[in-house]
Amino acid sequence: MNDIVTFKIAIPSDNDGYVLLQCEYCGEYFKCAPHDMESDEILHIYCPSCGLISESYITEDVIRLANAMIENYIQDTLYDFSKKMERQFSHNKFVKYKAGRKPKKEYEPPVYSTIEDLVEYNYRCCDRSAKINPLLKMSVSFCPFCGGVEFGNQ
Ligand SMILES: [Zn+2]
Ligand SMILES: [Zn+2]
Repeated sequence: MNDIVTFKIAIPSDNDGYVLLQCEYCGEYFKCAPHDMESDEILHIYCPSCGLISESYITEDVIRLANAMIENYIQDTLYDFSKKMERQFSHNKFVKYKAGRKPKKEYEPPVYSTIEDLVEYNYRCCDRSAKINPLLKMSVSFCPFCGGVEFGNQ
């Protein structure tokens, strides 16, 4: 049996090509373009709200889906194993083994790219754009690409 199992989760982007992110420190949602996040010039992504560098910007949606997929995979694997045992012992007078009922599937919720009230903001320091909470746009935010403070009023 192969020991490594890979799960693929497609994270959808919105109509403008932005991907939804969530800061693990303050829970703030914002959006960045994949080409910016993958750029060699950008070492870290800073949260526009708290200015910290989150270890991961995976949204709760994606984590929930990943957990459900893993749960289902484990249940399937255990059930298959039980079935195999059942077959193996089916002609054995001394051991009786029943696999039991197939476990119920965990719901795998879809991942949404939509938190529609985020607005595009161009950070002139890096000449890159992100989508942020309109309240941040009107007040103070941190550039997701360099961490610089922006006093927004564009
Ligand atoms: Zn934050
Ligand atoms: Zn910047």
